[in-house]
Amino acid sequence: NVRVRFCPSPTGSPHVGLVRTALYNWAFARHHGGSIVFRMEDTDKERSTQESYDAILDLWRWLGLTWDEGIEVGGPHGPYRQSERGEIYADALARLRDSSYTYDCFCTNDEVEARRKASGSKVMGYDGFCRELSAGQRAAFEAEGRRPVVRFRMPEGSITWTDLVRGDITFETEHVPDFALCRANGDPLYTLVNPVDDALMQVTHVLRGEDLLSSTPRQIALYGALTELGIAQRTPEFGHLPYVMGEGNKKLSKRDPQADALAYREQGFVAEGLLNYLALLGWAIGPDRDVFTLDEMVAAFDIKDVNPNPARFDLKKAEAINADHVRLLPVEELTHRVLPFLKKAGVVGDPVHDSDAQLLELAMPLVCERMNKLTEAVDMLGFLFVDEADFTRDPGDVEKLLDEAGRGVVQASLDALADLHPWSAGAIQEALQGALVDGLGLKPRHAYGPVRVAVTGSRVSPPLFESLELLGRDRSLGRLRGALA
Ligand code: GLU
Repeated sequence: NVRVRFCPSPTGSPHVGLVRTALYNWAFARHHGGSIVFRMEDTDKERSTQESYDAILDLWRWLGLTWDEGIEVGGPHGPYRQSERGEIYADALARLRDSSYTYDCFCTNDEVEARRKASGSKVMGYDGFCRELSAGQRAAFEAEGRRPVVRFRMPEGSITWTDLVRGDITFETEHVPDFALCRANGDPLYTLVNPVDDALMQVTHVLRGEDLLSSTPRQIALYGALTELGIAQRTPEFGHLPYVMGEGNKKLSKRDPQADALAYREQGFVAEGLLNYLALLGWAIGPDRDVFTLDEMVAAFDIKDVNPNPARFDLKKAEAINADHVRLLPVEELTHRVLPFLKKAGVVGDPVHDSDAQLLELAMPLVCERMNKLTEAVDMLGFLFVDEADFTRDPGDVEKLLDEAGRGVVQASLDALADLHPWSAGAIQEALQGALVDGLGLKPRHAYGPVRVAVTGSRVSPPLFESLELLGRDRSLGRLRGALA
């Protein structure tokens, strides 16, 4: 029975790499009919914030990355916030401390560093100084008022595991220094809490970023002790997912604007599009195929297919894939999703007025094939909803297209449409074509640009004739006249 975990640390705005990791865990668990445990790793009191915690939850809900057990939903292994599990860690730590797997260490970082420099050693980390303290040495440290940390004694030899992504990996433990499980004040560290929770929550598969690869030999060694002490039942399997690289082939860092996962929602990405793109950072559904649904991903996902090489984050590609997903949405759903953007921009009121809702229902079919992001609805539809007194035109487009020739085109359109009956897209098209293409001998490309800028305010708009129909006779003629004023 497969059990995986989401275990973000709520420090800062969630990173796209974190979402990619969560997505692979999710797809893996769903593919195998397993369970997902969601735990918040908020033991670092200085860096964890409620704001970040809320942002992560909000993001997961928007993405639709569901979980079966954990924060908000509960379950048999709670609580699921590490900050509420202090007693559990204190108990595990006490049992480890009573065993020969650990020792008390009184050294300060400065002392360790000074010894390293003096010996000329290149090995970073702890040198094992306190491994075999005599009772006298111990008493002397205590008399100085020092409080020890509990350090795990790395066993001799080597540690090997078969990584689900990378195959066999071996670490010689002489290169893995003994590590602290808690601070001197007793606060437990990631090194302890993460494996203890994975053990108690019966996690079977740990899929996480390559940046954590070096903690795996330590965790596997610790699992040996936890199993011996009856705290763990098994050592999980591990799979380390490739790095996500940004500009200049550098690791996409937290500070990189492209790394902020929530920003994509604000920019008008749909969850399907963002997830589809992130899925491609290390995995492919098949050759020459980039666009798929989450259900298709779940059906096809095999962790063995994940590519261990670094993946490059490509914003252009993310946008293109998102655009495909926007266009796949049924028009009602698309309407539902653009509404918050239209409200926020003040294009429609909140709540939406009945007449605006009707207009929107008619207008959405005109734009749904043309949208790449939800935010584009604001630019494309604004002209329909704006009060005449507030209507404005893009100054650049006005300069280019409403020059003297353009104004001649607008005048001819005004003449052709003034007495048009009925006011329908078909009739409008016929009238404008007659006046501009046949009458003035213009190419359609040149004919309609000035009209578009005159009535919609921009060169980029929904189809012109339908737009005029929706805008209505009075407003359309008013704007044509306005463009000449
Ligand atoms: N809370 C850790 C992090 O966000 C999780 C590490 C892990 O997956 O083991 O880096």
